[in-house]
This record gives sequence, structure tokens and C-alpha cells, in this order.
Amino acid sequence: MHACPHCRERVISGSQKLFLKGPALCPACRQRFRLSPAGGAILAAGAAGYLLVIVLADSATAAFSAFAAPLAAVALYLLAAPLAPAKKTGPRLYLCPHCQQPVITWKQKYAVRPFRTAECPACRGSFTISPVIWAFYAPVFAVLLVQERLPHPFLAPALILAGILLVTIIKIKWIPLVRK
Ligand SMILES: [Zn+2]
Ligand SMILES: [Zn+2]
Repeated sequence: MHACPHCRERVISGSQKLFLKGPALCPACRQRFRLSPAGGAILAAGAAGYLLVIVLADSATAAFSAFAAPLAAVALYLLAAPLAPAKKTGPRLYLCPHCQQPVITWKQKYAVRPFRTAECPACRGSFTISPVIWAFYAPVFAVLLVQERLPHPFLAPALILAGILLVTIIKIKWIPLVRK
């Protein structure tokens, strides 16, 4: 059994350590752990060694010996590599304007438009983006009005694309959500 990076209890099985798919839960302290950078490097070196021997081998027997690299890497990983604590905070979540709980994902926030609402996964309240966003879109639309007078034909589409990208970033990071 392998030690949990939080509570140091030896409660994590070899197969759980070997087949980690993303962060896992420690059965003793209920905190999350993941593959450590050292463990990842050992496993990657094993895979790289395997490919290298396969490529350089000049006979079937030599190619067969390529399995030694991943086997050694797995053994070293299981015996020596520590596990790492997983970050407690996941991706940033945004407050619902109804229930004030941080349950809105950035994808949900990205998808709402002034005329398109979404539903809070916690309280089912309907919300959208604050109309403040129009103030940020105004300069982007203004480019459309003056595009004839711009010196280069590709300048207007480039400015509009950059503007939309910038407004999207501002929207997700700073523009608040409102009830609808
Ligand atoms: Zn633990
Ligand atoms: Zn809500």
C-alpha cells in the first residue's frame, strides 16, 4: 500500500496508484491526491525508452527487450515515486445572481448573451449577462461603421476579431451575471 500525501496513511493500493485517472480520493482522510511530477516523469521516461529501443532495434529479440523500459519505470514509480496532493479548488466558479452560490461554470457564463439566458444548476433560477457588456461591444461595432476609411482591407476584420476575443475575456472574468 502507498502513502496518502495528506494524511500519510498507507491506504492507497498499487493498482489505484498505477491507474490514476485524474485526482482520486484518499479512503482515510477523504482528501484528493494525484500523480506527482516525479511519477509522471518516470512513467514518461519508461514510454520514451520503449519507443527508442523499438526504433533502434535491429532484430526481433532486441525489439522484444524494449518491454524492459516500461516495466522498470512502472516498478520504480510504484516503489519510489510519491503521490501529490491535488489542488482543492477546481476551475473558478461564478456566483448565481439568485442563490449567490458559486455554481456557474465559465462555459455557462460564456454561453449567455444579452438575449440568451441560462439556468442555475443549484436553484434553477434564470440568469444572463449584465447589459454593461454593450459598452464593451460598442467599439467593436464602431469598427464596422468606419471600415471603408481604414487603410488596409484586412484591418477591419482583424480589429473586430481581436475586439470580440477581448470582450469575451472581459465578459468571463469581470462582467457580472444578472437575474432574468
Ligand atoms: Zn489521506
Ligand atoms: Zn442559483
